[in-house]
Amino acid sequence: MQVLSVASEIYPLVKTGGLADVVGALPAALAAKDVATRTIIPGYRAVLAQLKKPQTVHAWKSLFGGEARLLAAKVAGLDLLVLDARHLFDRPGTPYLDEMGHDFPDNWRRFAALSRAAADIAGGAIAGYAPDIVHVHDWQAALTLAYMRYDGLSVPGVITIHNLAFQGQFGSDIFPMLGLPPQAAGIDGVEYYGGVGFLKAGMTAASAITTVSPTYAQEIRTPTFGMGLEGLVNGRVDVLHGIVNGVDTEHWNPAADEHLAASFTAATLARREKNRAALEERFGLSPDGLLVAVISRLTWQKGMDVLAGALDALVGRGVRFCVLGSGEAMIESAFLAAAGRHPGRIGVATGYNEPLSHLMQGGADAIIIPSRFEPCGLTQLYGLRYGCVPIVTRTGGLADTIIDANDAAVAAGVATGIQFSPLAHDTLIDAVARAQALFREPREWARLQKQGMKSDVSWDRSAAQYRALYDHLLAGHPR
Ligand code: ADP
Repeated sequence: MQVLSVASEIYPLVKTGGLADVVGALPAALAAKDVATRTIIPGYRAVLAQLKKPQTVHAWKSLFGGEARLLAAKVAGLDLLVLDARHLFDRPGTPYLDEMGHDFPDNWRRFAALSRAAADIAGGAIAGYAPDIVHVHDWQAALTLAYMRYDGLSVPGVITIHNLAFQGQFGSDIFPMLGLPPQAAGIDGVEYYGGVGFLKAGMTAASAITTVSPTYAQEIRTPTFGMGLEGLVNGRVDVLHGIVNGVDTEHWNPAADEHLAASFTAATLARREKNRAALEERFGLSPDGLLVAVISRLTWQKGMDVLAGALDALVGRGVRFCVLGSGEAMIESAFLAAAGRHPGRIGVATGYNEPLSHLMQGGADAIIIPSRFEPCGLTQLYGLRYGCVPIVTRTGGLADTIIDANDAAVAAGVATGIQFSPLAHDTLIDAVARAQALFREPREWARLQKQGMKSDVSWDRSAAQYRALYDHLLAGHPR
């Protein structure tokens, strides 16, 4: 089976978030299920620089205002198709933002071009290549399915939503420039609240819609989580699926992790103490009490405002914190101020630091993830794998991947973490207090850690679910 994957980022070439991890990891996991994936991504400057001996497999004289070529190349085991369109992608900044941190004003054009190119490939632009399925990710790739629909292609299209908060919403003035037929302007096409909605257009045209956990798939049917799209989601619930992400179990392996002071397994948990000691030194912490890690964007979505407001009370109860993150300025300064008030009890590192994030998972006792919504979440999965007990809100992927240590689950020996709901000052403090109570019983705590380390967080199961979905779609679309 051949799948054409369409995305705006892919690990390890270009990453701004969890989307890149998923798009980069799925092809290898699917290969084990006899699915061959080719991924089309934009030819950002940094991507072009990493290609060795690319082959030109298609060219456009004019694609949204300039010449473009499609380059085929293999990088890090990935079968890539790179859209080399200098007028759209050869510029400084991140994939979406200029050097000042502002959205590029022509983002609609850049990602419409990616989508147009992908639809052309689905329609046979590359000699000898005919994908059985087109799988697009998030709003940046979503218009692919609209182009395919109005081109009259019968190839099934899957759209995966990694975060419904990002919808690709633009003014109606761009519609004439998209190259879609007039009938696409309607509410059944790309129209969304008077403008053009890329994600909406993709969800309308898709044969199947997936999101990255079953609970989030249910939550987005409600106004609170649906962010304006709940009506559309409910109308398409018969094709809606939730498939939890996996993690790269080689890169995240506590038994062989170069970023740890000491590697360990479930059988050698005592070795974690060396990592804890390294963390205490790194963050200037005194050596007693539950050590809770925070590795997160410091944002409202992640509930970091509520956590920042609870730090004084928690330190008063003897809890210590090591914090790694960056984000909203007010929340960042709230964490830094708390660290200033509580030297030895709270340490904060701002910025992005992948090696430190490994040491924290391998040395902290617990990791707290108090998200308001969480489509899947990866940090709780790393926590499970590293014996760093997750304390999480009961939402989205957090609800699906953590088993709360309530009395029944503890008695049955199946608990893997602490869940709480709703997110509030008091519920958060109670949840950490529950973790503290368990932590005071070393045998109970070790059971929790070991049970978490047994959880299957690999991509294998998720890849099998995607394969089953593809099979189902192909059965309904004989070609
Ligand atoms: P989201 O994609 O919504 O930010 P996820 O939990 O899905 O949340 O993924 C976040 C990823 O980014 C994880 O791999 C986490 O370890 C990593 N991460 C977040 N903040 C930092 C940071 N400051 N330094 C290093 N890694 C970070």
